[in-house]
Amino acid sequence: MLLIDSHAHLTDKSFAEDLAEVLDRAAFAGVERIVTVAESLDDSRAVQALVRAEEMLAATAGVHPHRADSWSDQTAAAIAALAGAGSIVAVGETGLDYHYNFSTRENQQRAFREQIALAKSFGLPLVVHCREAHADLAAILGEHLPLPAGGVVHCFSGTADDARRFLDMGLYLGIGGPVTFRKADRLRQIVAEILPRDRLLLETDAPYLAPEPMRGRRNEPAYVARAAERIAQILRLAVSPSEVAAASRHNAMRLFRLGPDIPPSSIAYRLRNALYINLTNRCTNDCIFCARTHECSLAGYDLRLPREPSAGEVIAAIAENLGIPIVGESHPTANVAEVVFCGYGEPTLRLPTLLRVGRWLKSRRIRRIRLNTNGHGSVVHGRSIVRELASVVDAVSVSLNAGNAADYARLCRPAEARFHFEAVGQFIAEAKTAIAEVAASAVACPGVDMDACRRFAEETLGVRFRPRAYVGR
Ligand code: SF4
Ligand SMILES: [Zn+2]
Repeated sequence: MLLIDSHAHLTDKSFAEDLAEVLDRAAFAGVERIVTVAESLDDSRAVQALVRAEEMLAATAGVHPHRADSWSDQTAAAIAALAGAGSIVAVGETGLDYHYNFSTRENQQRAFREQIALAKSFGLPLVVHCREAHADLAAILGEHLPLPAGGVVHCFSGTADDARRFLDMGLYLGIGGPVTFRKADRLRQIVAEILPRDRLLLETDAPYLAPEPMRGRRNEPAYVARAAERIAQILRLAVSPSEVAAASRHNAMRLFRLGPDIPPSSIAYRLRNALYINLTNRCTNDCIFCARTHECSLAGYDLRLPREPSAGEVIAAIAENLGIPIVGESHPTANVAEVVFCGYGEPTLRLPTLLRVGRWLKSRRIRRIRLNTNGHGSVVHGRSIVRELASVVDAVSVSLNAGNAADYARLCRPAEARFHFEAVGQFIAEAKTAIAEVAASAVACPGVDMDACRRFAEETLGVRFRPRAYVGR
């Protein structure tokens, strides 16, 4: 069951200490992506920083009605700049909150109107908050119809008539923890009788509104499945939680334009007795023998990725391939000898995802985890990544392909001068100190001096040499 949490506030201070574990738990619970919603201009910037570091997150930018007193032309310009740079998937959250009135109603309405206009001008959807203000909210939205990129009224709390009005405007309704609450019969009835499946978005609104039985505690994206389970119960008509999750996932992908589906066999594919994981098609090299540039299939698997898969998607693809559950009882052994991060591209370019998937593999007690790399990871990330890798991989195989710097530059054609032969040698030397099995490999292609590679690997670096067959053009 793959899920998208369409609304969470991960920059909230309650996540400051343990966000990495929170995201691990989310990915391990089948959460593929999390739309991380901003509440103010400062928060929009914080969300941007977070999304750059964490590959399973997507960002919004906007000002919450609670913060509408801070709205100004400068705020609008800054949000427009983020929208123009293509770094957000929606504008919000914006809207009206007449329950708390932390900002004046006048300011809330102005900030809301201007954010609607901004979203429309950039063709972005809106993330809308509404509390005890449904009539005014509908009226203001009505002034701006149509909304071609749509939007979502998140954490929907209105009446059946409100729901119909928003659905008529083409909006989605966000449903989260409250659908599990004991006294939420009206909401459950709306979900059962009015909300079409193709307008449902699952959300947590973490850290707020944790579902039963966690109610009152800090909410987190891993709990988004609870709403799917409760909705499946309400719908009764033989709808499973995974069907609810799948419908909501497709809705979120459509609304926030999160990209096309990736066939699981392009992410995790079986060759002989190993399972290979394809995280990216990008690489810091352009080796003259690279199959990636002229051949995108391997043993019948299409390894072209239409976009890069998140940790949750990778985990789901592996689980499906191995026939093991994503969550629940861990299996002592899976039916492969090893799992290899490899694919058509350099896996360490996606370090957070690689590590997250690696931690999940460890939790599933996979026997042996190997990384095939070009050894540029530490240079890419500006720090040694060897210790981090050592926490999840048992073996590493580094593409050396040359016995000296000049041959390396000629054969591997690095994208930048910093990705030089010495950097690869240094990565191997460091890996040797932390990872049990380290090998250097070379592709037996015309022009590669296999003897020189072997000597350099064995004599200079002191690691095993692994010749690899040339696929040819
Ligand atoms: S390092 Fe590997 S993926 Fe990158 S260009 Fe060379 S052969 Fe291709
Ligand atoms: Zn929110």
